[in-house]
Amino acid sequence: MFRIPLLLRARRAESGIGRAFRTFLTMALLSSTGAWSSPASQKALRIFFVDVEGGQATLFVTPERHSLLIDTGWPGNDGRDADRIVAVVKKAGLSKIDDVLITHFHNDHVGGLPQLIGRIPVGTVIDHGDNRESTDAPTVQVWQAYQQLVAAKKFKRLTVKPGDSLPIPGIETTVISSDGAVIDHALRGAGRENASCKNAEQYPPDQTENLRSLGTLITFGKLRILDLGDLTRDKEMELVCPINKLGAIDIYIVSHHGWYQSNSPAFLNAIAPRVAIMDNGAKKGGTPSAWDIIEKSPRLENLWQLHFSEEGGAAHNVAPEFVANPEGPDAANYLELTAWPDGSFEVFNSRTQNTKHYPAH
Ligand SMILES: [Zn+2]
Repeated sequence: MFRIPLLLRARRAESGIGRAFRTFLTMALLSSTGAWSSPASQKALRIFFVDVEGGQATLFVTPERHSLLIDTGWPGNDGRDADRIVAVVKKAGLSKIDDVLITHFHNDHVGGLPQLIGRIPVGTVIDHGDNRESTDAPTVQVWQAYQQLVAAKKFKRLTVKPGDSLPIPGIETTVISSDGAVIDHALRGAGRENASCKNAEQYPPDQTENLRSLGTLITFGKLRILDLGDLTRDKEMELVCPINKLGAIDIYIVSHHGWYQSNSPAFLNAIAPRVAIMDNGAKKGGTPSAWDIIEKSPRLENLWQLHFSEEGGAAHNVAPEFVANPEGPDAANYLELTAWPDGSFEVFNSRTQNTKHYPAH
């Protein structure tokens, strides 16, 4: 069992094929020996990455069985995305969702909410305040549907601003960005100068709902998990330049489905995630340039993808065992991350039924 961390660490210097084989070997070893300890005394946080075809729907279930869903996927399709979300809620043994966080009012994030509420009770919905993008018809449509749900008192609405903590037991959730504003101070333990800001590209302000994304840092024991919705590069720069207000992240839920309008080099160098999970679709997100930036970030052990990215082709997709939905008919496979307070975690691919363990650092 003492060799396993070495196997995991050796990966960065390898070729793609060597890496894929070694990963397979590592998974096989870990699966067969159960060599790591995930003490029963430590209660786990579970995170389900639901395949909503290039939108977002990420379900957190705390050890106390409190549930937080970040975004609800797309509207339409006979409630396809709501059905997929409800399926993982049931898998987690729950019959309601305590909190839904809407990062912003684009239809791949809030679109599935009315159908979801038709299928399962929701307690509170947390947002960044009113929709600010009145020129985009699909956005206006989902915003109107949202207002109708609020008026019908289908849930309690909570609007938050940077620096707020969300009232969720078992995890510490800090609002990083909301309605175009970001935290004005470095988080505890962060605040170092970011060398990557020198000569960094400057980005024009985004004009859509994306830059208003409600972003959160979720802390569970020693683990730091970052979700910024579709927050754009101009706002990323405010978070990490000239000082890195966020500090290092263990698990990065890749912003904006891995599109190039997010995921700037200065940002990825600052947060330097151990593991990144990208909620891309086959034809949405996973831009090769953004994929390269994530893959080359300094501490990355693995990038996982909800889909094979057609735009990425052979050169810009991870090895098949890290992809939930490869090319071909879509099976809506999900990824599940289980985390322990000591900082260890593992990722399960529902397609391969394999789990990869990441020891605490
Ligand atoms: Zn999106």
